[in-house]
Amino acid sequence: MSDRYQTLRLKITELGRERSRTALQKGSHQALRQTQRLIEEQTRSLPRTDRGPLACRAGCAFCCHLRVLCTAPEVFAVIDWMGEQASTDAFEQFRQRVTATAETLRGLDPGTILQTNLACPNLIDGRCSVYAARPLSCRAYHSLSREACEASFNDPENPDLGHPQLTALARVHEGGLAGLIEALDQAGLDSRQYELVTALDEALKDPAARTRFKNGNRAFSTALTDIC
Ligand code: SF4
Repeated sequence: MSDRYQTLRLKITELGRERSRTALQKGSHQALRQTQRLIEEQTRSLPRTDRGPLACRAGCAFCCHLRVLCTAPEVFAVIDWMGEQASTDAFEQFRQRVTATAETLRGLDPGTILQTNLACPNLIDGRCSVYAARPLSCRAYHSLSREACEASFNDPENPDLGHPQLTALARVHEGGLAGLIEALDQAGLDSRQYELVTALDEALKDPAARTRFKNGNRAFSTALTDIC
């Protein structure tokens, strides 16, 4: 990592940690919101060439077939957003899609989880149905080549296939996430990163997950964690 990018990441981690620490006094939802705002603000302040042009377009969803890792507040934020925005029927369909995908994931050999294309249950008609509440990792994902993403999608078992990214943009997102994780840690809260779908499934089935998180305990016990 060049010094310039290393400095940028460290600066954002520090800023994020301090802002999240203050925001956590009002709750983890506020800490997550301020992390999202910090990343947006820092992204806007990058030189134009460090921000794009990206190959990402609405309706392109190869990356939404990969596994997403996120913290407990991000899991609760998706459920809360659906609870506020979705009709009773739509929420029930969300619950069913999450459970079906979580069961498929739990049935996979751990060694193949990252090599299997499996659509995120929030992906509907090629678009994210929880876009405003999507996790930080989803916000961070970007590519300079649609062809590279497609090739990787078509050959998920090939570890040599990747996609070109913008280093500065990637470091901004890494710094923001690291700041949130450090603030959660310092506050004695669960800062683990869980696999999104199995964590959503557990949170939907076990409301006590929120209490465990608030009390400084491990929020999820059945959600997948060691998938990297
Ligand atoms: S939450 Fe949305 S952006 Fe993230 S993987 Fe699922 S569909 Fe894609």
